[in-house]
Amino acid sequence: MIIVMKPGASSENISSVVNTIQRKGLETHLSQGKEVTIIGVVGDKSKLAYDNLEIFEGVDKIVPVTESYKLSNKKFHPEPIRIQVGNTSIGPDTLTIMAGPCAVETEEQMHLIAQNVKKAGATILRGGAYKPRTSPYAFQGLGEDGLRYLQEAGKETGLATISEVISLDAINTAVKYVDMIQIGARNMQNFFLLKEAGRAGLPVLLKRGLSATIDEWLNAAEYIISEGNPNVILCERGIRTFETATRNTLDISAVPVLKSKTYLPVIVDPSHATGVRAYVSPLAKSAIAAGADGLMIEVHNDPANALSDGPQSLTFAQFNTLCDEIKPFCGLMNRSF
Ligand code: PEP
Ligand code: MN
Repeated sequence: MIIVMKPGASSENISSVVNTIQRKGLETHLSQGKEVTIIGVVGDKSKLAYDNLEIFEGVDKIVPVTESYKLSNKKFHPEPIRIQVGNTSIGPDTLTIMAGPCAVETEEQMHLIAQNVKKAGATILRGGAYKPRTSPYAFQGLGEDGLRYLQEAGKETGLATISEVISLDAINTAVKYVDMIQIGARNMQNFFLLKEAGRAGLPVLLKRGLSATIDEWLNAAEYIISEGNPNVILCERGIRTFETATRNTLDISAVPVLKSKTYLPVIVDPSHATGVRAYVSPLAKSAIAAGADGLMIEVHNDPANALSDGPQSLTFAQFNTLCDEIKPFCGLMNRSF
């Protein structure tokens, strides 16, 4: 349930509603806009005679929410939000690019990649230090050393940083080094991890699960937000279908669908969606045209020898071309880049 206060409702009006709800043992989450305050209510509604709330001073209306996710629901916060990530931000009128290798491999490599992606236009540097690989014999990432190399390369170039976390231990380590944590597709429904991510105090990039519906994905976001962290960014990275020509199938429709259901920023990862370098650029353009707030692109100094995801990684020259070619698309969508 969501309670919309009247424009100009006083802080006393708001606390009186909030206190009444909390006294019944339900949780409230405030969303304070310039004009209007919205109160999200989570908990057992049977304890609350909510008709009574309609006559409270300053209450405009009570909106029942049929979807199981509430705090990530557009009804709770009608305007799209901008989320600060280190020295940059992700939001409705810019196009943010996160770029870097699948996995951090060496210190020198991270510096080289950071300088090149920054020159082309990226503002966030990515690099996995804990890699959830299909085979236990594949490269598993450098752990804390990898995070350190990522942080140093970020500092040197002025890029914000992001890295995936796969456990509570990884979260506790990563928060010392990065500006944003990533929950990967394989962990989208690891509810314990989602709650820990919600308590980590950093923005969270939540990738869509391999076979997750949009409803399940928004419920996963709800786990993070309900721990008190509203800074969640959704990342469409392709889903499992019968098609084998690409690694996954990019669900481009997820972008406008999400935009109709949530105020959270949405970014698209055409690298993992396709698994094929040649398809990354066309899908990056379609993502912008569909309304995405950003892109996550894998870039490597030597893709042929990358320790993971070489076939989908762009060279510096290819990434540079992509950044040039998307400019008109950003212009058409009124996004600065
Ligand atoms: C990644 O970003 O490196 C990654 C493993 O992505 P996903 O979780 O989307 O497979
Ligand atoms: Mn990868």
